[in-house]
Amino acid sequence: MKIVGIDLKPLEVSLEKPFKTALREVTNLKTYIVELYTDDGSVGYGEAASTPVITGDLEGNIKDAILNYIFPAIKGMEIEEIENIMNKINKCIIKNTSAKAAVDMAVYDLFAKMCNKPLYVLLGGAREEIETDITVSVKDPYDMARDAKEYVDRGFNTLKIKVGIDSELDIKRVKTIRDAIPKEVKIRLDANQGWNAKEAVRTIKRMEDMGLDIELIEQPVPYYDIEGLKYVTDNTYIPIMADESLFSIQDAVKLLSIRACDIINIKLMKCGGLYNAQKIISIAEAFGVECMIGSMMESGVGISFAASLACGRLGIKKFDLDAALLLKENKVDGGIIYEKNKIKISKDIGVGIKGIRY
Ligand SMILES: [Mg+2]
Repeated sequence: MKIVGIDLKPLEVSLEKPFKTALREVTNLKTYIVELYTDDGSVGYGEAASTPVITGDLEGNIKDAILNYIFPAIKGMEIEEIENIMNKINKCIIKNTSAKAAVDMAVYDLFAKMCNKPLYVLLGGAREEIETDITVSVKDPYDMARDAKEYVDRGFNTLKIKVGIDSELDIKRVKTIRDAIPKEVKIRLDANQGWNAKEAVRTIKRMEDMGLDIELIEQPVPYYDIEGLKYVTDNTYIPIMADESLFSIQDAVKLLSIRACDIINIKLMKCGGLYNAQKIISIAEAFGVECMIGSMMESGVGISFAASLACGRLGIKKFDLDAALLLKENKVDGGIIYEKNKIKISKDIGVGIKGIRY
């Protein structure tokens, strides 16, 4: 199976309700789908989501990186030499992790098709379904509590609460939500870099004292403030997770060797795809640290690959893969299936995607 061609198609879908964090507000998904072709007529799918405030990957850069750097570097290579392909993808251009992730996904899809196996089996085959959390966008406390209740009524038992805009109000947000939902529902917070280190410690300590029962807190401080992240981790009890501070395998080694965080969030758009994500999981396992898998605003294509990795590897203990569930319409045929808070993996060969309704 020789790589012979590529297509890059934009996909746009509206969200059910606006997605709002300390960094951005999004009302529709705008993403690129990669279709990678081999000489036997097979196609592998992949996805690149442009997320300027997190990865810096703009739509134009994604297109340019894929069509003018990544694809030319792997054109004509055989899918069975996947290690060499991955080496080319990662070496032909620095950064551009979303573009790399899209092509990496398509290559893994084709590799699994060549092996005639579902992708999650080749990635480890640990389980066939996972449970995802669902995100509560940052708003007024009472509006957030109403959204939280709605999600609990729909069957979700873990909520990811977006905070990081005004720490005083953030405490009120979490308290109002905690009071509105059953005790057994887990709450995880994501500050999306919205606090500084001392403000984070003060805020988190107050939340601890109030007994708000928070499972973990994601990225309390700016991505570049590694000392600040470690300060927060050292001075609080609630587990602290690195998200925007951790893109690469080198970031993982750096952060974990100084214990700057208690847990890490892996996203394919940050690390450049499944190849690097698997290495990050192994590094975390070596440090005895758990991983969560998350995503950017992505369609069922990107989420199907993230879920394949999550179903493959036991090192991933927490799942934040609600993005495709927040869309008004599913334009992806095949791949994962959402059932309430469960994500069921496709048993079809490859990642299981049959087509996209662009
Ligand atoms: Mg996050």
